[in-house]
Amino acid sequence: MLITFEGIDGSGKSTQISLLRDYLAKMGHDVQVFREPGGTDVSEMIRGMLLNPELEIDPVTELLLFSSARSQLVAEKVRPLLEDNVIVILDRFYDSTTAYQGFGRKSVPLEQIKQINTVATHNLVPDFTFYLRLSLEEAGERTKTFEKDRMERAGDTFFAQVFEGFEHLAETEPRFKVINAERDIDSIHEEIIEILIPSLKS
Ligand code: C5P
Repeated sequence: MLITFEGIDGSGKSTQISLLRDYLAKMGHDVQVFREPGGTDVSEMIRGMLLNPELEIDPVTELLLFSSARSQLVAEKVRPLLEDNVIVILDRFYDSTTAYQGFGRKSVPLEQIKQINTVATHNLVPDFTFYLRLSLEEAGERTKTFEKDRMERAGDTFFAQVFEGFEHLAETEPRFKVINAERDIDSIHEEIIEILIPSLKS
């Protein structure tokens, strides 16, 4: 089973992923977590380039770098683990590319982003996608003390477009489970478990 978490920066993905991982492991499931971009040596090297605030990266190059990191992660880790019936949790997947490189950067038309996503994921589609929805105002509050990477230095307009991208996906992708991320950590965790339970074999 492939579970992905999506949302703008500050939405609490890492916290929820770590709670979910612990819960699933306690229930006796094999579970592996990867972050995007990253999760393999090649993908982590690409991550280093993508987030380096000293680099100027062309928007199409950026799109292809995120996609290359993703392709390597799927081929090297995600695919083989799913074949071994491991539950794989991803901290971001191709929906982030639709939101950030598509709606945010507007690097290429959305139709082309879709095609690139299909290639980069080797046609893999998540079973569940949890979209942790947080307002831009609340996200700004939560992230104001973070050190900013190259992507996070973009202006407010960029983040508003990224938010719109996730909202568009929430409306058009039945796979998207919208979770109100402004509540307390435990309530969010419980909601996620409730959604997953019917699909978990013990
Ligand atoms: O989720 P995480 O903070 O690890 O993501 C690293 C950075 O990459 C963030 O600034 C995120 O906004 C950005 N990102 C992006 N496009 C993606 C995935 C992540 O701009 N497709």
